[in-house]
Amino acid sequence: MNVSFLGLGAIGTPMARHLAPPPFSLSVWNRTAERARAFGAETGARVVTSPADAARGADVVITCLPTSREVESLLDGDDGLLAGLSDHALFIDCTSGDPTTSRRIAGRLSERSVAFMDAPVSGGVSGAQQGTLTVMCGAEPATLERARPVLEAFGKKIVLCGPVGAGDAVKAVNQALLGIHIWALSEGLVALSKAGVSASLALDVINASSGRSNVSQNLFTERVITRAFPRTFKLALLEKDVTIAAEFARENRVPAPLTQTVADLLRVARRELGEEADHVETVKLIESWAGCEVSG
Ligand code: NDP
Repeated sequence: MNVSFLGLGAIGTPMARHLAPPPFSLSVWNRTAERARAFGAETGARVVTSPADAARGADVVITCLPTSREVESLLDGDDGLLAGLSDHALFIDCTSGDPTTSRRIAGRLSERSVAFMDAPVSGGVSGAQQGTLTVMCGAEPATLERARPVLEAFGKKIVLCGPVGAGDAVKAVNQALLGIHIWALSEGLVALSKAGVSASLALDVINASSGRSNVSQNLFTERVITRAFPRTFKLALLEKDVTIAAEFARENRVPAPLTQTVADLLRVARRELGEEADHVETVKLIESWAGCEVSG
């Protein structure tokens, strides 16, 4: 199966590594060509120099870019994906995208008999490395069955959430929960630290109690208490995701003041901490407002 992967970023790179060995024949494209060349040298994947070349001869095209906007921007022009896609190819978008743009992309591709699915992932860089990602699919059931052998290369739990856009919507709600947990736990641990309670002791208690979450059990334990703050998932991308969740609620006429507030707060954090900051570094903004670091 000829597979082309576009977008060798923090999560795309470890996902694509699973598609390098047989039975796949992998081609890669990345906006910064040096990244694609390094990936090709490491894995033996074929390196192409335009989206059109990536699309030519591909049975499956996978994109993993920051937003749906970048995915849509790769479609057009002489070098664009549409110039190279053959009829009956399959387009899998693993971007954490927005449902409206995904539906528009699907409509444009269907005019060329190309099937599209949104297939955002969760599980982080470590899940991508281990091939244990959760994949949230928005597609016709038959499209998912065509995609399944490719998705199984990097995914463990692969779920059809509904028609095109449904995967993006479920992912956005998941990300809203992630953002809310990060914000709430940051406020709580900074307050506890300022009051002289050990943050690691408090986390130990919370992780054996009803307020625990992936944020308390893994992210804060491994990254905040240690002050390691590895950069694996950009705060800018989390802000984008929670904004999608707020827009999704509004489009469906569901009042979502909490989701909207956290989207707004994360936008402030993104502006203060910068485009390269990791999502867990959000705690640093609350620490600076409080004049106190999470400690011990
Ligand atoms: P990165 O910022 O690390 O990588 C982004 C990728 O998109 C790079 O390959 C970059 O190319 C490319 N890109 C950016 N802008 C453009 C453009 N205008 N045209 C073409 N290519 C472009 O992001 P991640 O890999 O972390 O995230 C990718 C997607 O996966 C996002 O939607 C994110 O929300 C989602 N995600 C990320 C997770 C993570 O843990 N990192 C977990 C789950 C989902 P270049 O090398 O040139 O910059």
